[in-house]
This record gives sequence, C-alpha cells and structure tokens, in this order.
Amino acid sequence: MANIETATTPSAFLAQHPIKMLIGGQWVEAASGKTFDTINPSTGQVLAKVAQAEAEDIDRAVAAGRRAFESGQWPKLTPSQRGRLLWKVADLIEQHAEELAELETLDNGKPIKYSRLVDVPLTADHFRYFAGWATKLEGETIPVSVPNMFTYTLREPMGVVGQIIPWNFPLQMASWKLAPALACGNTVVLKPAEQTPLTALRLGELICEAGFPDGVVNILPGFGETAGAALAAHPGVDKIAFTGSTEVGKKIVHASADNLKKVTLELGGKSPNIIFPDADLKFAVRGAMNAIFFNQGQVCTAGSRLFAHKSVYDSVLSGMTDLARKMNLGPGIDPTTELGPLVSQEQLDRVMNYIAIGKREGATPTTGGERAEGDLAQGYFVKPTIFDRVADDMTIAREEIFGPVVVVMPFEEVEEVAARANQSIYGLAAAVWTNDVKKVHKMVAALKAGVVWVNTYNQFDAAAPFGGYKQSGYGREMGHAVLDAYTQTKTAWINLR
Ligand code: NDP
Repeated sequence: MANIETATTPSAFLAQHPIKMLIGGQWVEAASGKTFDTINPSTGQVLAKVAQAEAEDIDRAVAAGRRAFESGQWPKLTPSQRGRLLWKVADLIEQHAEELAELETLDNGKPIKYSRLVDVPLTADHFRYFAGWATKLEGETIPVSVPNMFTYTLREPMGVVGQIIPWNFPLQMASWKLAPALACGNTVVLKPAEQTPLTALRLGELICEAGFPDGVVNILPGFGETAGAALAAHPGVDKIAFTGSTEVGKKIVHASADNLKKVTLELGGKSPNIIFPDADLKFAVRGAMNAIFFNQGQVCTAGSRLFAHKSVYDSVLSGMTDLARKMNLGPGIDPTTELGPLVSQEQLDRVMNYIAIGKREGATPTTGGERAEGDLAQGYFVKPTIFDRVADDMTIAREEIFGPVVVVMPFEEVEEVAARANQSIYGLAAAVWTNDVKKVHKMVAALKAGVVWVNTYNQFDAAAPFGGYKQSGYGREMGHAVLDAYTQTKTAWINLR
C-alpha cells in the first residue's frame, strides 16, 4: 500500500499532513497523535510534520514484525523470490532517483550533486548486491569425528530486527541496514533519525510498492530517547543494529542486555589521514580536502586528524587553505554548492563549541573558524575550517567533531606517526598517501582501523566489509561479512546408524 500514490515529486510527498509511519503494511499516525517538525537546514524553515513514534507504536511495530516473521507469506517465500523483491526496490529507487535526491538534500542539507551521484545510486546498488545474496546463504557439511553422524549447518534469520540510523546519510544508512536484513529473511523495525526522517519513509512506500508482505518492514520516525530507547530495550526484538555516536552505542548495549539481543554497532571515529613526503602532493591535498569536507565533515570516517610530514607540512597547509577559501558554500539544492549547511541547530552549536575550544586551547585556524554570513546566516553553515598549531592531546585532536573542521599536525618518522595515529579510542578508518610500496604495507599492518585507504579516501562498495576497531563499534556491514550479523547458525546432527 503506497502512502500517497502520486508522490513522485518532493512537493507531493511533503504535502501530507502529517507524513505517517509504516506499521504492519499500514500508513498510520502515532498512537498519541503527536507529530514533530523536520527542518530544512539551509533555511531553518519547517519542511514537514511527521508522525512521532513512541513506545506504544514500537510495540505495535514489533508485534507486526513478529507476525510477519512467524506466519503469512514472508517465511514461505523462496530465496529467489526474496531476492527479486530486493531487486525491485533497487529498480524503484532508480525510477524515483531525482525525487529521492531532492528529498535527501532538502532534509539533510547535503549538496544535491552528491545526493544524485553518491547517495541515491549507492542506495540502489546496495539493494541489488544483497538481492544476490538471498540465494547464496549456504550452510556447511562438517566432517565430525563421531562415528555414524552426518552433521551440517543451516543459516537461519535472527527474527525481528530493530535498526536505528543517523542523519548524515539517511537513505544510504537505511539501505545498509534493510537490504542485508531482508536478504537473510528477517523482519525489520527501522527508526530513522529525527533530523532526517523523510527519505526512509519514502523508501518505505517504494518497499510496499515492490510487494513486500505487510509487516516485513516497519518504519517509525521518532526521537532517540523515546522511540529509539523503546526499540533497543524491547523484549520482542531479537537483534539490534545501530549507527551513530559512541555515547549512544553504549546505551544501546545496556538497553539490549535484558533479553540479550544480538547487537552490531557502527560508531564514531577520529580518523588519521597521513601524507608522506613521497606522495603526489597535489593529489594528496585534494584527497585530504575530500576526506574532511565531503558531506560537511559529517561522516563517521571523516579524515579529521591530518598528519603531514614536516618536509611537506607547509605546502599541505597552504594548499588546503587555498582550496578551502575557494569552496562554494550554499543551500544544498543549488547545483553549484560544494559545502552545504550542517544538519541542525544542535549540530551547528556543537561544531562551533569545538571550534571555540580549539582556539582556547591554543590552536589557530588558517581559514574558517566561523559561521557563514549574509544570506547563509539563517541556515546552519560553518566555513571550512583548518586548524594549525595543534597538539595530539588537544580536545579538537581527540574528540569527534562531525563538522567541516580538520586539525593538521606535522610528523617525522613512520613509527612515530603510526603510534600517534593509533592513539585514539576510535579505530574506524585511516588513510595513507605515499608511493613507497614498503611504507604502504607497513602502515596498513600498523594502523588499528577497520578500513585503511591508500592514495584515496572515502571509498565504499556494497561488496567491501566496513566497521570499526576499538570504540568505533563491533560487527561489520556490507560484503558477506554482514551476513553473520543477520543470520544465526544451526547445527544438525543426524544419527545414520
Ligand atoms: P546519536 O548517536 O544520538 O543518533 C543516532 C541515532 O540514535 C538517531 O536515530 C537517534 O535518534 C538515536 N538515539 C539517540 N539516543 C538514543 C537512545 N537513548 N536509544 C536509542 N536510540 C537513540 O547522534 P546525534 O544525532 O546526537 O549526533 C551527535 C554526535 O554523534 C555527532 O556530532 C557525531 O559525533 C556522532 N554521530 C556519529 C555518526 C556515525 O555515523 N558514526 C552518525 C551521527 C552522529 P534521534 O535522531 O531522535 O536523536
């Protein structure tokens, strides 16, 4: 059932009052009747009113997910039929690509060119990749040493999966969570971030249109402290998958303890990006710009700790400063915009607070360090900011800022920079720029991070596993690695005597 059948433009979708939530195949208002506003961060204006899920709605959604998991069509579908449904979602995303890109940009603020070129195509790709896995969830035959026993394993779905996602890549995060869970035969209750609920809900309509049975996918916008917490603690949820801050990740672990839900967490980062003197410097400087300023720095893998060898430090700093000054700030929906607004007033305050702390602790911005003025003052814009004179122990060099703010620090030796890069509670990503093959392999081995990029940054593919070391989380998304997160292994012993 589509929410409104004519919703092929953002304005048609946004015209609903309120935009409803998806529970058991029905588009419904919150049990409490409450709604919340979602804001356009480029202007600070309200985009739409959205139904606000709370514990009672989560209860209904979990019950719908359980019914769909245990009975009805879903458990009877063949793997091939499940795969076709996922493939159909990818087709529908492509058919509605422009509408989804515009909605994403309006709600999140990101430049439309990235919504068009990155967010929407990679979302479709994710559904296609996992459509293929539905038919390949194989068990094993085990050569046990007990006479007359035939022993094999089955990979079975977990059950009802709760998924909580952040606001930085709303559509992509929804696909990272939904596609593998559904390929494995689970049912899902998804809570998008309060700042960016729109594209997940529109995706919900496309999922209904693709023909998924009622209750297999439930999408409930609402606040973390109420809807999110109720989902994480719910005794009827078998597994919880979370992407967001490390702080909330820890709360999820505590909340999941009562019924010992399986948990996977993709959390924060403070990723080191290291430029050696033998790198192609122009290329590395551009790479370092992309590493920090893509998506306004609101990326869990953002290259926010830049180490430049002391012999190239000045060139790196001045090269980046020049490029940052030329960046085109503007509303996301303007096709010439390179850097959009931050997602919310709260995030703006947070980032400006870190900038103030950086200055107070003695670091110096070579550019930026302030909000954008003029027409942009009404939105949540921060100028691209590059900090010089930074020490490893400063707050801005240790904590995740999640904004267009990079600290640049010099280094001298390979071992020294590897040790400093690893001095973090986080271990999500790292990058190295060098043309020396020995350094490449030494650094890949030395860096304690779930992904290491060499002479590139922010590469993602549905086939390549992604996830964190240390307090950047546990479990992996993407690739076949994520199948472990959404299946459980059953071992069967058959006595042949
Ligand atoms: P959160 O970690 O609070 O939000 C992520 C998701 O968790 C949202 O859907 C949120 O809901 C939900 N949530 C919040 N509290 C709870 C709870 N107690 N139980 C269950 N779910 C909850 O991130 P913020 O939006 O507050 O951003 C703060 C900082 O977190 C950023 O500055 C950044 O450093 C980091 N962050 C990291 C991300 C990453 O990809 N690693 C992504 C987003 C943020 P709601 O939206 O209603 O709060």
